Amino acid sequence: MAKITVTVIKADIGSIGGHTRPSQELLDSVKGFVDDAKNSGMIIDRYVGYAGDDIHIVMSHTKGVNNSEIHKMAWDAFSNSVTVAKNQGLYGAGQDLLADSFSGNVKGMGPGVAEMEFEERHNEAFAVFAADKTEPGAFNYPLFTMFCDIKSNTGLLINPSLAKGVVFTVMDVMKNRVVDLETWLQVPEIAAILMYPGRYVVESVKTKTGEPIVSATTDRLHNIKGTYVGKDDPAMIVRLQKTFPATEEACYAFKDAHFVAGNTRGSHHMTLMPVTINTTATSYFCNPLVSALLFSIHDGKFTGPIDGFEGPNWDVVRKRAAEKSEGLRTQGFIHPATLIPEELEYNEGYKDIMGRIEKLFKQR
Ligand SMILES: [Mg+2]
Repeated sequence: MAKITVTVIKADIGSIGGHTRPSQELLDSVKGFVDDAKNSGMIIDRYVGYAGDDIHIVMSHTKGVNNSEIHKMAWDAFSNSVTVAKNQGLYGAGQDLLADSFSGNVKGMGPGVAEMEFEERHNEAFAVFAADKTEPGAFNYPLFTMFCDIKSNTGLLINPSLAKGVVFTVMDVMKNRVVDLETWLQVPEIAAILMYPGRYVVESVKTKTGEPIVSATTDRLHNIKGTYVGKDDPAMIVRLQKTFPATEEACYAFKDAHFVAGNTRGSHHMTLMPVTINTTATSYFCNPLVSALLFSIHDGKFTGPIDGFEGPNWDVVRKRAAEKSEGLRTQGFIHPATLIPEELEYNEGYKDIMGRIEKLFKQR
């Protein structure tokens, strides 16, 4: 069997009654185009779902990463479905499709891409974590927990492969450059760089022999377009079991419901709440959310997904996430409930007011 590539491409192309969730008709349209690609033999298998207002296409194929045919198919599936969104008057119809036409690779055109190529194991398992109302750096904390925090993940101690350490590739999204850092010697460096998720974002994690474990979307939409056009809601693939994190180790890394940037107008901090698959974004000030889709794959064919964040334990985490968010929300507009000025997404109003104040200043 040739190597298998798993590709996740996601975009927000419109949702019902605000930034909530795509309509069924919109999902059906995207799925129809992806099904055509499956029926033509371009891809082996597919799954189409959503996290809040973002639609994700999960695909398996044998064409490798950065394949223009695969990327174009996903771009076309999204861009040809925008008419459906427009005809229904959906909010933000086509908002993440920033380019006018496809030019070889969907990266940098708006949709987020996470993909990896690997030799399929007999019992290959992977998760897709799909988030909404937040930013790519939202995964910094869980990835540090997963691969660097023995107290949270005993697997780092008792699994010989993980105990050897991994290689993080971290992107500086402001300067469009990457750095490789290895556990365990460089844990302080990894901690320091992951400390500011607005700038430094994990792009991938590999074993020291180069086996891919994690691939994440790193696009920041306002870095592409120059101004705010939508939230840079991330997704990532994590391979599971055996020499990789166990399913429960990977999912458990989200148990703290840590604070992330995003939510209403992309301008606040609230917790990242683990939710069930295909959850509508909450109208409760758009609390950021993340879902976990668990797949098995054999000869490129998917079984699943099942839901990584369902059940009573996760209900407790959801309650904690809501309470922590409320704790910060009580201070309203005062930072750190809000983001720093450079990160405020819809900051025209803020700039206007500060511009007026500027004229009132007197020199001391
Ligand atoms: Mg979104």
